[in-house]
This record gives sequence, structure tokens and C-alpha cells, in this order.
Amino acid sequence: MRAIIIGAGIAGLAAALRLSQIGWDSLIIERAPTRRSGGYAVTFGGLGYDAAERMGILPDLLQRAFVTEEIVYHKPNGQRRFSLGREIIAATMGPRTMNILRGDIETVLYDTVRDSAEIRFATTITAVDQDTRAVHATLSDGTVEHADLLIGADGLHSATRALVFGPEEDYLLDLGHRVAVYMLDRRPASIAPGTAGTLSAGGRTVAVISAGDDRNVAFFGYRTERGARHDDRGDDRGDDPATVLPQVYGDLGWVIPEVLASMARTDSVYFDTISQVVAPPGAATAWSCSATPPGASPCSPATAPPWPSAAPTGSAPNWNATPATSAPPWPPGRRHYGPRWRRSRNSAAGSKASTPPPTRCCCG
Ligand SMILES: Cc1cc2nc3c(=O)[nH]c(=O)nc-3n(C[C@H](O)[C@H](O)[C@H](O)COP(=O)(O)OP(=O)(O)OC[C@H]3O[C@@H](n4cnc5c(N)ncnc54)[C@H](O)[C@@H]3O)c2cc1C
Repeated sequence: MRAIIIGAGIAGLAAALRLSQIGWDSLIIERAPTRRSGGYAVTFGGLGYDAAERMGILPDLLQRAFVTEEIVYHKPNGQRRFSLGREIIAATMGPRTMNILRGDIETVLYDTVRDSAEIRFATTITAVDQDTRAVHATLSDGTVEHADLLIGADGLHSATRALVFGPEEDYLLDLGHRVAVYMLDRRPASIAPGTAGTLSAGGRTVAVISAGDDRNVAFFGYRTERGARHDDRGDDRGDDPATVLPQVYGDLGWVIPEVLASMARTDSVYFDTISQVVAPPGAATAWSCSATPPGASPCSPATAPPWPSAAPTGSAPNWNATPATSAPPWPPGRRHYGPRWRRSRNSAAGSKASTPPPTRCCCG
């Protein structure tokens, strides 16, 4: 049996590994010219931990895991507000959990699967068709590949999802935040080795984590107006974080000017909206889908600050925009799933009424 997997991220590589373990061949198609191994710290536990154990990659992941000795929370002026020590951090994480960089999860998967799957970089999918015998994927390198299964693991802006189900605005639920993450070429002096520092002010959060082996990562998360458009296109399309981040964070001190300046020296910046993909009912069973591995909580409290909770103030900057609380938080264009969700919200009891549905499927 043969699978074509679009996207060599965590979902795509994990799918290829599991398929190879049950005797399938996989062709992985990745748009980027090389691996994209960036990303912030993930608190990796729960179902994801169990799955990694069953897939045989847990020892390699644990080898790359790191311990955070202290998380220091700063005031907007940069002064220390309070901190959490190693024991409290460990207690919030619980057993069978680790802190690990997203890129290290990807590296472990890549190293494990590279000999059993073909990976074609700088290539994407341009058309998909199927008949009773196979699925046929036309690729940007001019080839047409045939397989028993096509898996769309090409992230939030999945081309596979668009080809099969329609434009992403029908499925993408903008949660009203943006995130930017990149590796730093040196540790800011005020971030002690093995610690993390974070600052939240006016709907904006910054965090820097020293993740061992002299690797340091910066995280920016801020509120936007829903529908603010951005594509994670490997830094070559969409908004330029080198322009946007200084506009959003330029008034803040602490390590922020130094961290912003180092963006010019990093290989790549992950910069995208925080969104949820809600696939049409039935799609999860009809098509293979990708999602953050169960139990993996990017930006979790132990390694990154919670989203800012301060009530937004001011009117001009859009990162202070008040998140809608009463209106249904899906974009007007998402017509397939919205009405169904609306009905279930209205009939749900108590606090569940305002809880978005779980991500049913995240084709990319
Ligand atoms: C470099 C990077 C850094 C990230 N950092 C963070 C972070 O710090 N915090 C966080 O919460 N989330 C981050 N994310 C998102 C997070 O990894 C995913 O939301 C989650 O892990 C689900 O993984 P995924 O494999 O489905 O998607 P992704 O991790 O987004 O991987 C999708 C892969 O598909 C490739 N791809 C995209 N479009 C196409 C196409 N048309 N054809 C072929 N390939 C395509 C992408 O280049 C990428 O390699 C990051 C993603 C990337 C790519």
C-alpha cells in the first residue's frame, strides 16, 4: 500500500512513520526547500506521550527534553513581578510529560522516518483526483503520483484541504491572535541559562526560553482583530514580521528591543494567526487529517505564559481589540459548519454554551 503525504511537519512525519511501521510506503511532499525545524517549547504529555511511546520514539524525545528551572514574570516596565520554581513547574506539568522544542519533535520524527519514506522538498500539490483504484496527485514538479491514500498534513493553510474541500476561509476559524516564534542567536543576558522570562502588557505577550545546549527561542503572541489576514508562507509572502512586530511591541522595554533586533539574524520566523480548522462533518472519516498530536500543548503554561488576560485598553492599536464574546467567533465565510455549531452552542447547557467545539479535523 502507498500513501502520499503533503507536508513534512509533525503530523506528516508522524503519519509516515506509523504507516511504515505497518508496512506502507510513503511519499512525503514538502513545499519548503529544506526542513522547517523552528518553533517554541511544547509541553508534551498525555495522549501524545503515549503515542510517542507506542511509536518507539519516546527515548529519543526524552533525550532532547529540557527542564526549566524558573519562569520569571515581568512587569511591563521590565521589573520582576514573580516567578515559579522548578518544583511548581513540574507539578503543573504532571507525570509522563516533558518540555521539548517543537523542532526537536520534528527532528526525531524525521531521523526515524527518513530511511523508510521518500521525502521530496520544494514541491507542492497542484491537483488531486481519484477513481475506484487510486488517488492521483499532480505535483508542482510536473509529476503525477498515484497512491491508495492521500494525507493532507500541510498545516493551517493546507493546499490539500483547499483542493479537496474548498477555500480555507470556509474552514478556518480565526481566534483573534497572532504568534511569531524564532530562534535567537544568543541568550539575552537577563535570561539565566535554563530559565524562561515572560512579559504581558495590553494584549501582548513576549516570552524567551533558554532551552539548553545554548538554544534560546523567542515567542510573541498578541491580539488582533478577527479576520486579520496572514499566511505562513515561509517568510516570503504575507506580512513581514520584521515590520509588524516592532510596530506592535516597539513601546516595550525589558529584553524586547534586543530580541527584535536579533530577528534579522535568524534563519526563519514562524508568523501566523492562531486559528482553528473545522472540517465538514464526515471529512474526518473520509480523508486523512492532521492536527497537533494529542496531548501536545504548544505554548503551554509551564513553558510559555498564558494568553494575556488584562482587559484591553486604548483604541488605536489593533492588538488591543476587544475579543468578541457574544457573537459566534467564526468568520462569515465559513458556511458549512457554522450553522451546525451555532445550533449545538444554543442547546448546550451552562458554560459549555460558550465553548468552541473541539477541532474535529485539521487537514493541515
Ligand atoms: C516552522 C514552524 C514553527 C512552528 N512553531 C510553532 C510554535 O512555536 N507554537 C505553535 O503553537 N505552533 C507552531 N507551529 C505550528 C504547529 O507546528 C502546528 O500547528 C502543529 O504542530 C500541527 O502540525 P502540522 O504538522 O499539522 O502542521 P505544521 O507544523 O504547520 O507543518 C505543515 C508542514 O507542511 C508544509 N506545507 C505547507 N503548505 C504546503 C504545501 N502546499 N505543500 C507542501 N507542503 C506544505 C509546511 O512547510 C510544514 O512543513 C509551527 C509550525 C512550523 C511549520
